Amino acid sequence: AQPGHKWNFGAGPAMIPRPVLERAQSEFLNYQSTGLSLMELSHRSQPYEDLNNKAQAQLRQLLKVPENYKIVFMQGGGHTQFAAVVYNLVAWRHHQNGAKGDWREIPVDYVVTGSWSAKAAEEAKRLGANTRVVCDAKKSLGAYTGIPAESTWATSDPQGALRQADTASNQKPAYLYYCDNETVNGVEFPFVPSLHDPSVPLVCDMSSNILSRPVDISKFGVIYAGAQKNIGPAGVSVVIIREDLLQTSELKDGLPAVALMMDYKTMVKNNSLYNTPPMFAIYISSLVFDWLLDADAQRVQDGNAALYPHSSFVGVEAAQARNERKAAKLYKALEESRFYRIVVQDKAARSKMNIPFRISAVPKGSDAVADKKKDEEMEAAFVAQAEAKGLLQLAGHRSVGGIRASIYNAMTEEGVDVLIAYLKEFESQY
Ligand code: PLP
Repeated sequence: AQPGHKWNFGAGPAMIPRPVLERAQSEFLNYQSTGLSLMELSHRSQPYEDLNNKAQAQLRQLLKVPENYKIVFMQGGGHTQFAAVVYNLVAWRHHQNGAKGDWREIPVDYVVTGSWSAKAAEEAKRLGANTRVVCDAKKSLGAYTGIPAESTWATSDPQGALRQADTASNQKPAYLYYCDNETVNGVEFPFVPSLHDPSVPLVCDMSSNILSRPVDISKFGVIYAGAQKNIGPAGVSVVIIREDLLQTSELKDGLPAVALMMDYKTMVKNNSLYNTPPMFAIYISSLVFDWLLDADAQRVQDGNAALYPHSSFVGVEAAQARNERKAAKLYKALEESRFYRIVVQDKAARSKMNIPFRISAVPKGSDAVADKKKDEEMEAAFVAQAEAKGLLQLAGHRSVGGIRASIYNAMTEEGVDVLIAYLKEFESQY
């Protein structure tokens, strides 16, 4: 990198690959010889319709999305999906139940392993759904520092019986929900839940790790992701839905009818063109997909062509190889230090995208009492000095403090090396 280069470790909106921004800049005033900027085109125009279809096809290719799944682009970010999954899937289960019974009795099950899944569960409760937290990592581990074994969750087993009495209900849940990567807490699932009743669809928030590794889509009912970490700019969310879940019954008696903007069926039926979509965000996302699928761009991103087995090593497989190397070297550097503390204790559940850590002047293993205020002052100094060196946005989430390095697909291995060198340099001052 050139002197003065900036490295963006922000958790989101996050880095967008430089070549993508450069290409967008070159096309900004004249999109595909239309003489207009993409932002000025009609969303009903041919060039936009082509882009809409292309972006979906690219995502289908990247994630190997099976044919019986639909891909839609929606608005309102992750938070809108917190509500949309409740409305859509409770209405689906109600339909499965022959549109009989009170929808409020249909359970919706949440695995809470961090602040985003906790917020999603809160939203379901707020909407009046029969919300059951079937696993609460904070309760069982004391903090969001790992993922409790699936065998301890209070989910229905394949026979439909509930494993734990306190969640007894004779109804099948509408879904089992979890967040694959907890952006704030740095906890990432190393597995896909598999011990629950298979007729209960899995719903997964992949906002902060989608496209970072391959996923077996066929194990899920609904996957969603806000774009602003690994996909593109804020403003668009990607939703991948198994087709059969679009059969829903209108919910009456209390639950407001699904707002059309949140209705998966409406989005699918209109090919994400029910209303004016966030066209620019979808356009940049499509350029990011191009970048992931382009072997030359991936070799440049890697910075070391020798690490790639062959020239067609692209997509999420290439991203995964790079992400694993990046995360492994950063965790190793933190672990070897006496000064930095990795927050997530459960090694298997350490995120490869968001790495929260703390500073402590008391060396690891020592009995000396930590001076919290002093440690926090050092963390603030760490972040400030990093900024001055061009290592940006390293402060932890405002709810937890500390330091957090987010190293999504767009972060190069070189950037991680620069951060590691800085970690050592900063520590040596103390
Ligand atoms: N889910 C996860 C995993 C997130 O990281 C975030 C935001 O950072 C959200 C949901 C909320 O997304 P939004 O801000 O788009 O509503």
